This record gives sequence, structure tokens and C-alpha cells, in this order.
Amino acid sequence: MNKQAADHVLPEVVLECHGLGKTYREGDLVTPVFSGLNLSVRRRESVAIVGASGAGKSTLLHLLGGLDSVTEGEVLVAGQAMSALSDAGRGKLRNHMLGFVYQFHHLLPEFTALENVMMPLLIRGDPVAAARADATDLLGRVGLAHRLRHKPGELSGGERQRAAVARALVTRPACVLGDEPTGNLDEKTAASVFDLLLELNREIGTALVLVTHDRRLARKLGRTLELTEGRLHPLANQD
Ligand code: ADP
Repeated sequence: MNKQAADHVLPEVVLECHGLGKTYREGDLVTPVFSGLNLSVRRRESVAIVGASGAGKSTLLHLLGGLDSVTEGEVLVAGQAMSALSDAGRGKLRNHMLGFVYQFHHLLPEFTALENVMMPLLIRGDPVAAARADATDLLGRVGLAHRLRHKPGELSGGERQRAAVARALVTRPACVLGDEPTGNLDEKTAASVFDLLLELNREIGTALVLVTHDRRLARKLGRTLELTEGRLHPLANQD
């Protein structure tokens, strides 16, 4: 594998937020989650976000990924303010710059592993043959060369998560956002998928921002931030 995230066109900071806040409002129900969050993720960096259940980790990741609207503040992806873009522009920026891995794989059940991994490349307009070659290459890299034509239902939990990792990284994004990407796996499989993400982070040069409740896994990343009482605090990585 020789392709890298597009370093030469990327600014040093690939993902940042300034004064970010979110309050959910549904009728009379007002749920403030956090406000005033600042975060800056550099190229190739790996950042863990830990915190108690309900602290707002998933909400933060959704805002960083442009998947939900911010109540206050700003998210910038590769220097571009999400709020300044149309829905189509945001979608394009997401497809080119970001990758997502969730706790549940979210692969499309009726498509093969290969087709699932080709999908983000086809969406951004790559020719089919090139998409097939890139997806095959990355599926080989995650140890699934022998499972290209299997559908998600015919893969083990760990294999499905590896396919989801390949799908997130196949576009060589500037940054991958992961919400408990190994939370649904047994301890050993979780560690191996986590290590795979870190290897690809180094090889491809993609930055990683991973939400995890597992502080042992978090310590494998470059730095750890704890979201608590609506604030992000750096943790010494031996905590
Ligand atoms: P975490 O990922 O850290 O467990 P979440 O980001 O899922 O936390 O949730 C943070 C808080 O926001 C929780 O108190 C949750 O109940 C609330 N919340 C999450 N989504 C919504 C929503 N769509 N509407 C109202 N409240 C929500």
C-alpha cells in the first residue's frame, strides 16, 4: 500500500472546533450537553476521547463529523468551516476528508464486503475498476483478502469490523472518527481491530479521533482527552 492521505494539500490542522456547544431541544425538554469546547487535531495524530456514559462523547463526534447541527461555535475540516457550506458541500467535504467507524459496522447487508468498501469511492466518482482495485488492496491489508465476496451476514463480528475499518480508510481520509469502534467485540478481537486502526493511522497518515470507554485501549493513542462536566481535559496517558 503506497497511497497516503493527501498530505501535500492538507493544512497542518485537519480537524478543529472552537467554542463548540450543543443543547438538545425537543419541545419543553432542554438538554444542555456541553459548551465552549476547543479541540485541534493535527495531521497523523491519534486522539482518544474518554468519559462516562452520557458525558456527550457521541454528540461531540457527531458534531465534529458534520452529522448534527451545532448550537454554538464552529467546526472546521481541513480549514473549511462546516457551517459555511451547503448540505451538498458538507457531504462532499465529509466524503473526501473524513471516515467513520461505528460500534456496529453499518455495512449494507445486501452487498459484499468488496462492494461495501468500494461504495465511498464510487460515491465520490472514482471509476469502477480503480475503486475495485483500491478496495481489494485495503481489504487485503485488513486481512480479508479471502472474504471479498462474503456479505456482512457471512462474516464474523471481527471481520465485519475490519471491513468497516477498510471502508472508512479506503478514501485515504484526512481524519477517521470512531465511536466505540471496537465496543461490540470481545477483548482480544477488540485489541486486534484497535491495533489495525493504529497501524493504518501510521501507514496512511490518517489522523484518528476515537471515542472509547476503555482506558487501556485509549492509552495506545497519542493523547487522551476526558470529556467530563461539559469540558475536555487532557489526561496524562498513564492514568
Ligand atoms: P455519550 O456518548 O458520552 O454516552 P451522548 O453524546 O450519547 O453521550 O449523550 C449526551 C447527553 O445528551 C445524554 O444525557 C443524552 O441523554 C443526551 N442526548 C443525546 N442525544 C439526544 C437527543 N437526540 N435528544 C435529547 N437528548 C439527547
